[in-house]
Amino acid sequence: MAEAQRLDGRACAAALDAKTAERASALTASGVQPHLAVVIVGDDPASHVYVRSKVKACERLGLKSTHVERPASISQEDLEAIVDELNADASVHGILVQSPLPPHLDEGAITDRIHPAKDVDGFHPVNLGRLVQGRTDGLLPCTPSGVMEMLRWANVPLEGKRAVVLGRSRIVGMPMALLLAARGADATVTVVHSRSEDVAERCREADVIVAAVGRPDMVQAEWVKPGAAVVDVGINRVDDDTRERGWRLAGDVHPDVASVARWLSPVPGGVGPMTIATLMANTVRAAEGLN
Ligand code: NDP
Repeated sequence: MAEAQRLDGRACAAALDAKTAERASALTASGVQPHLAVVIVGDDPASHVYVRSKVKACERLGLKSTHVERPASISQEDLEAIVDELNADASVHGILVQSPLPPHLDEGAITDRIHPAKDVDGFHPVNLGRLVQGRTDGLLPCTPSGVMEMLRWANVPLEGKRAVVLGRSRIVGMPMALLLAARGADATVTVVHSRSEDVAERCREADVIVAAVGRPDMVQAEWVKPGAAVVDVGINRVDDDTRERGWRLAGDVHPDVASVARWLSPVPGGVGPMTIATLMANTVRAAEGLN
């Protein structure tokens, strides 16, 4: 069988970015520049890389960004006060508090505090609740929403198809399953997690697999039905002595899956760029006041 078609997240993100930049420019011309506030606590290097790429994306697409940086020692009250201030600031349309927070902080309480209309991560119970109700026109979590955009962009058939989502997290797996099952997408969805039995068997039945587990190369070629679409959300650092830096990035899907699947998203260059592109689109959407 031929190599799988790459689900090229960079190309898909560029197409989405072009539309986002156009909408941002129209808003700015009308006197409202879309504005994202990113709050980062502590000095986790990966989080700083993510925040920098979000700020850069804002610059590229004509959005204003505010970068609020605080030490890991910040108290819950002080962090909540920052969120309250950003909620009250009418010039701010989107608020994102970079995860993970230091362990003494209550991340759930922070998510709940962000005004739902400014919740561009799509994690607030109001926004997730709307999704559970089948209302997919609000602010949706960026990674699963980006995966849906990529599947539509590549014309991957979903209606009536069997989809397996590996992982049931609040930020990826569970909203992913809801989006695939929602009206308009219409897949038949199975959610697999760490307690699931016969995981390989469930995957072999699937027309679409979305892997969001955080285990390098977990999905093997023999788990995949020939012709399936496989989306790899995983971002894992694995040791690699052949690289100067001593590590490489691996997804949750083994590279050999490319010889079986019809579509496969690469890591890096697959879901990652779509997550940021969706965050930008969500911020413009929040500025348009559609939510
Ligand atoms: P979590 O750790 O929150 O969730 C992992 C999920 O995988 C859990 O539901 C867990 O099950 C399940 N799981 C763990 N082990 C197994 C197993 N052996 N078999 C089946 N299921 C298993 O991770 P996230 O959802 O936050 O992230 C998942 C991956 O996606 C990570 O690699 C992360 O870095 C990446 N990611 C990538 C993004 C991107 O933009 N590309 C954005 C966000 C995340 P249980 O619930 O039972 O514990």
